[in-house]
Amino acid sequence: MEIQQPKYPQPATVDPIDAEFWKLCQDGVLRFQQCSYCETWRFLPRYMCAKCSSPNYEWKPSSGRGRIFSWTVTCQPFHPAFARDVPYIAAVVELEEGVRMATRLLDCDPEAVKLDMPVALVFKDIGDGFKLPCFKPAAK
Ligand SMILES: [Zn+2]
Repeated sequence: MEIQQPKYPQPATVDPIDAEFWKLCQDGVLRFQQCSYCETWRFLPRYMCAKCSSPNYEWKPSSGRGRIFSWTVTCQPFHPAFARDVPYIAAVVELEEGVRMATRLLDCDPEAVKLDMPVALVFKDIGDGFKLPCFKPAAK
């Protein structure tokens, strides 16, 4: 008899712009808002540009390339679904666009993570076909 694994939690949002971010990820393309006036990229999704206050923006695809800005190795699963993954790397990645994103670093030994390490975007299916943007060490 197969043991049923608990499902990963999916993002639950009531904010329309945040919901749009997650919906756009389901195409397998990571997109961030870019200000239509001053071209500043932003993340988390927001209604106004923090630099020039313009409410106008476009969703633009990210290069998917970035570097490790910070990380921690999580050994304690705070949700039953993550028990199969510990220890895992929770990271903050700084993307080429300049935005920083809290994410998971996959396919990497926790002992091998380094500050400023190049990483590349990968989408992880966390159940029911939901695509979660994660990262892995960039190929050299
Ligand atoms: Zn702006």
